[in-house]
Amino acid sequence: MTEPDSEPARANFIQAIVAEDLRTNKWDGRVVTRFPPEPNGYLHIGHAKSICLNFGLALENQDKAPGGAVCHLRFDDTNPTKEEQEYIDAIKEDIRWLGFHWGEHEYYASDYFDQLYEWALQLIKAGKAYVCELNADQIREYRGTLTTPGRDSPYRNRSVDENLDLFERMRAGEFEDGSHVLRARIDMASPNLNMRDPVMYRILKQSHHRTGAKWCIYPMYDFTHGQSDSIERITHSICTLEFENHRPLYDWYLDQLGVYHPQQIEFARLELTYTMMSKRRLLELVEGGHVSGWDDPRMPTIRGLRNRGYTPEAIREFCRRIGVNKFNSTVDIALLEHCLREDLNKRAPRVMGVLRPLRVVIDDYPPDKVEELDAVNNPEDPGMGTRKVPFSRVLYIERDDFREDPPRKFFRLAPGREVRLRYAYYVTCTGVVKDERTGEVTELHCTHDPATRGGDSPDGRKVKATLHWVSAAHALEAEVRLYDHLFTKEDPSRVGKGENWKSKLNPNSLETLKSCRVEPFLAGAASGTRYQFERQGYFCVAPDSSDGKPVFNRTVSLRDSWARIEKAQQNK
Ligand code: ATP
Ligand code: MG
Repeated sequence: MTEPDSEPARANFIQAIVAEDLRTNKWDGRVVTRFPPEPNGYLHIGHAKSICLNFGLALENQDKAPGGAVCHLRFDDTNPTKEEQEYIDAIKEDIRWLGFHWGEHEYYASDYFDQLYEWALQLIKAGKAYVCELNADQIREYRGTLTTPGRDSPYRNRSVDENLDLFERMRAGEFEDGSHVLRARIDMASPNLNMRDPVMYRILKQSHHRTGAKWCIYPMYDFTHGQSDSIERITHSICTLEFENHRPLYDWYLDQLGVYHPQQIEFARLELTYTMMSKRRLLELVEGGHVSGWDDPRMPTIRGLRNRGYTPEAIREFCRRIGVNKFNSTVDIALLEHCLREDLNKRAPRVMGVLRPLRVVIDDYPPDKVEELDAVNNPEDPGMGTRKVPFSRVLYIERDDFREDPPRKFFRLAPGREVRLRYAYYVTCTGVVKDERTGEVTELHCTHDPATRGGDSPDGRKVKATLHWVSAAHALEAEVRLYDHLFTKEDPSRVGKGENWKSKLNPNSLETLKSCRVEPFLAGAASGTRYQFERQGYFCVAPDSSDGKPVFNRTVSLRDSWARIEKAQQNK
């Protein structure tokens, strides 16, 4: 597991490369990066790492790059079968929400189809590409393995004219899907399988969301990506480690074509404990109904995190702290939650909300009296002021905060015991009402000490617990959704024989509490607004919340397991 620095981050190895390139003026003083999503799903926290890295490089070099520093947004839309406008719109919205902007630099690989086609002709004419009629299985078989060299396709030595003719007819729609491909003519004995005559173009008789019916042949990712970088005059083409052994091919195409040649740099992708990141798997969760959608608050997608109550600041800070390196590792999700708590602690107003209400009657408090007590909105930020909280004779407290038979070290309310009600009074439990049939406690009776108004005793008397509460007559009834990790295992992709990764889904990842009570201050709170429910955690107003039926999503509890992990590491 990664142990990120708690010190200010040192320059990562990519920042160091960029700084050195600026020093030597390698790219005419320019820094041009790009974020290249394939529009076949929604962005997730792994993409956020790449976004923070690429847009971050452009931002931090604004004043250092005399030739300008920008980050392009490029949709890598070469596969017409899986891509949709809906994803494009969502990706743009999510990047903006994260706080990054691409200005006029919005590009589409599909805009380069004409140029790519010209380049394919150029390679054919140079004897560097040929039309092959092996089917997909045969191509795989001819490719060989890591230990055995590949075999030449019987179509490898076609003449240039024949190749030009066949490729033109592929484009004209004369052949069926899968019957012909255009392949680069490189080296069937290369130790790198990607160099064994990779496919450049395939036939797909599908209309494309941007180019419509214009094309029935589509370029492969490897034949598109580097050239797109070249067209856009990218300087540093940053991708994840699995593309490291595609780099020779990236370089080969650009060298053969004799065009502008950016530098590809690989870094380790983000993996998180208790999390599945691949879009394919996430799609399976959505389609299988295991979550309510891509934006389910348990999903690691940007929209899921947003509905959960994550802030862009917390996600950016997380990305800063995990850093960028060359070795695959898994980051503890507790660190992400820690960054979130740090941020919310500073900005979230405190309120009182009772999740599992237990009725309390203050017997010696007048039935019609209501007091407006002063409550602090955020002890971390006096500028956030105070608010009034109504107090009256009948209250709700948290069911967990009472034990009829308190075990040792349980300092909260119990028969005969005195505790503080936050901002209000000291109260003493004088009676317990139970359901005769079930034995369940249904109501408590208490007395209060009027001299302790505001929460302190003039005689210096101490109590060991402070409880949150709401006034029954004033509280709003609310639904609260408690979220937990979507998977029960740190590494859900590690499954035994015959086991499916879905068997690692956490059956208790969502608990819905229907009759919670929150203080009236929360009436009309806008969707997305975040609060700390004192002693409970951080919550945000759910997208489907309404005035009549407020709904809160628990963003994260107050228990910080990362702080514990960090402490244990320091004490080692
Ligand atoms: P997935 O594997 O989740 O399906 P992908 O790599 O196919 O994702 P793309 O849309 O191609 O998704 O990704 C766009 C960019 O985001 C790529 O440059 C990719 O390297 C980067 N990226 C994707 N996943 C991660 C991750 N987990 N960590 C860091 N960067 C990532
Ligand atoms: Mg991809």
